[in-house]
Amino acid sequence: MATAIASIASRLRAILPADRVLDGPAALIPYAFDASFWSLRARRMPDVVVLPETTDEVAAIVRLAAQTGTPIVARGAGTGQAGGAVAARGGIVIAFAHMRRILAIDRTDLQCVTEPGIVYADLNATLAGHGLFFPPDPGSGRACTVGGMVANNASGPHAVKWGTTSAYVLGAEVVLADGTVIVTGGARSKALKSSSGIDLTKLFVGSEGTLGILTKLRLRVQPRPPARAVVLAAYDVLEDTVRALDDLFAAGILPATAELLDRSAVDALMKWRPDLDLPQGEAVLFIEIEGTKTSVSASVREVEAIVQRRATTTRLAEDEAAIQRLWAARGGLAAATALLFPGKHRIFAGEDLAVPISEIPRTVRRAREIGEETGVTVLFYGHFGDGNVHSGIVIDPEDPDEVRRADELADRLHRLAIEVGGTVTGEHGTGAVRAAYMRAEHGPALDVMRRVKRALDPQGLLNPGKLDLDPGKLDLEVPEG
Ligand SMILES: Cc1cc2nc3c(=O)[nH]c(=O)nc-3n(C[C@H](O)[C@H](O)[C@H](O)COP(=O)(O)OP(=O)(O)OC[C@H]3O[C@@H](n4cnc5c(N)ncnc54)[C@H](O)[C@@H]3O)c2cc1C
Repeated sequence: MATAIASIASRLRAILPADRVLDGPAALIPYAFDASFWSLRARRMPDVVVLPETTDEVAAIVRLAAQTGTPIVARGAGTGQAGGAVAARGGIVIAFAHMRRILAIDRTDLQCVTEPGIVYADLNATLAGHGLFFPPDPGSGRACTVGGMVANNASGPHAVKWGTTSAYVLGAEVVLADGTVIVTGGARSKALKSSSGIDLTKLFVGSEGTLGILTKLRLRVQPRPPARAVVLAAYDVLEDTVRALDDLFAAGILPATAELLDRSAVDALMKWRPDLDLPQGEAVLFIEIEGTKTSVSASVREVEAIVQRRATTTRLAEDEAAIQRLWAARGGLAAATALLFPGKHRIFAGEDLAVPISEIPRTVRRAREIGEETGVTVLFYGHFGDGNVHSGIVIDPEDPDEVRRADELADRLHRLAIEVGGTVTGEHGTGAVRAAYMRAEHGPALDVMRRVKRALDPQGLLNPGKLDLDPGKLDLEVPEG
């Protein structure tokens, strides 16, 4: 095997300059991890990492993988929390750090074309100069790549109003498992919508590198709203947060974000930054309104008047510095957690449930009970406006019994999400970590996913061990014909 890998590395050096083919053990280590606890517990090294600069290089690498039966795993920034970018079965990791160009920005046609390795925040910084933005805004936006976002169908707080990455992918250049290059969404199209043919773009979005490798993305962008304001509202009981949001819906108002901080998260933040002076209650909502300066000024007051009906306290943040301070605090939950539980670590496991909005109180209450039953500390917060409940499990990773109990907690949280009519992952993806829940969540539809996988990747070389799609299983469970 060692000789076979050495020969693949040397054949890769015939495709790429030697400095873009890494196979020294020290150089490979960073690629053995992403942000998942799964990857931190056991090192899974790729055999070789390649850093292509063009689609032709990607296609040649994939053809070599196909000829030699070598697994191939695409990697953006490795911020995924489900083990998606980790080579579970070894093989080639194809990293996109050298393919991060913005190829076109067109304001009139509301779109841009980028390579997959561009970092989300860099794309938005450039778009801002054109009065535009790419709305899906993951918390990891200063590090994660747009390719990783498309592959995971990432999103963030603003998905309430703007939707997830999927809504913004108009087309993609994709290298298929045999090295063929296709363009989805119309080979020459610059249209903003299309009813033509089967929507292959949607098929690749969220497929986490299991069906093809994305090498170019045609993305819809939006005019950047020039103004925003935040209403902070505290509630005595969780159920009132759902009622408050429903009051807004009844008034015909869809906020840009409605973020939830459970009491556990408020306590952590207040310990870290007492100057934030967050209001107390079982839950706090951050409701953001966007628009023009005039419209925001009027609608933020209307929103405050509506949420005041059920809130114990409300507060407005209208100047940009105050708004940014609140968002920075929300983004600092991990730091706050470290302060609250010295010697422990926040791990990413069971962290991304999405449930119907109406089920959030029941989910959070039951999840708190499961935390108590397993004796594991867990904080809750999330993108309340679209039912995305994040849990922050805090443990000492060196304590085997605590790790075992954290595994049980994460498993029970995943099962809880399915039980209440939700999903095990709202935005972070399935990867290796959540593959075991695919049958419970999707039923017979999983077999159709496996058929699609077999049609596009008959050797099962694209990101094997993820999403429960491997061909071995397919042969056992899906009869021919
Ligand atoms: C602190 C923190 C906060 C986070 N907050 C959020 C959040 O708010 N919302 C959210 O959605 N996610 C969040 N995430 C998760 C993660 O950042 C996102 O899922 C992100 O989109 C992953 O991008 P990446 O470039 O790091 O991808 P990677 O982790 O490198 O890869 C993710 C998946 O995409 C595949 N992939 C990458 N590039 C390609 C390509 N070119 N072609 C085909 N497949 C490819 C990989 O194989 C893998 O399956 C967070 C992560 C961290 C660490």
